[in-house]
Amino acid sequence: MIRAKKKYGQNFLTDKGVINQIIAAINPSKSEKILEIGPGLGALTIPLLTKVDHIDAVEIDPDMIAALKEKIPPSKITIIPSDILKIDNGQISLYSKVIGNLPYYISSEILLKMTKVINNQKDFHFMLQKEVAERISSKTHSKSYGRLTVMLQYFFDIELLFDIPRESFIPSPNVTSSLVRLTPRHHNFNKVININNFEKLLKIAFAQKRKTLKNNFKNILSDTALRALNINPQDRAEMVSLDDFIKIENYITDKKILE
Ligand code: SAM
Repeated sequence: MIRAKKKYGQNFLTDKGVINQIIAAINPSKSEKILEIGPGLGALTIPLLTKVDHIDAVEIDPDMIAALKEKIPPSKITIIPSDILKIDNGQISLYSKVIGNLPYYISSEILLKMTKVINNQKDFHFMLQKEVAERISSKTHSKSYGRLTVMLQYFFDIELLFDIPRESFIPSPNVTSSLVRLTPRHHNFNKVININNFEKLLKIAFAQKRKTLKNNFKNILSDTALRALNINPQDRAEMVSLDDFIKIENYITDKKILE
């Protein structure tokens, strides 16, 4: 009997109905190149393999890897025994779909890593804590709108598909989960010039969420500069749209303000 390890965020999905719903949402084609993050005991991997020929999977826990090897023949799965955060971004960018019931202790880091791997992927399907799923899909003026929201929404269209109750797992996590679909945005829209500056800017803007932009930006942008961009210095960061953040980044980069 394998014991779930807290340190690896192990909660195993056991509800067959939920598993079928997730597989239907992923909807892979037979020869698609799929990467699964954290296959665990194969709750998603095994049913997915009735739809696709082969899956690559990154798993950190040697006990999970041993169990998977007993359940799934090597012709069907390539197990990459590693920490997902250490996998080269270029390697991940080769997959057309990335999926996973993510280990919640590093879900934000994994999401941020995915912003750096976009190439030709169709989509990403992740199970997350409902609170994180809401945060990344939230709109301006909402309490959960923050750095992660703006960063993720710049790169992806985000759909909150459905919730998954705690009882669908063994052991039950402390919180409700949600399935989200991230689809890379390839259509034309305003572009960030320097993504590092965009990240720095978001960090500064949301450093103290209750303070105004005027206050948080006091070392980098004057009131006059903000007003010239049509942005009210008295607003708080949670009131600023993605397009306005892009505008601020373009200005800052153009004027070499953060260098
Ligand atoms: N997919 C399985 C399921 O749905 O039942 C397990 C999901 S469980 C929430 C998260 C999985 O991610 C576990 O198998 C855990 O060992 C693995 N994991 C945790 N940290 C990891 C990391 N840094 N890199 C890769 N896998 C990791």
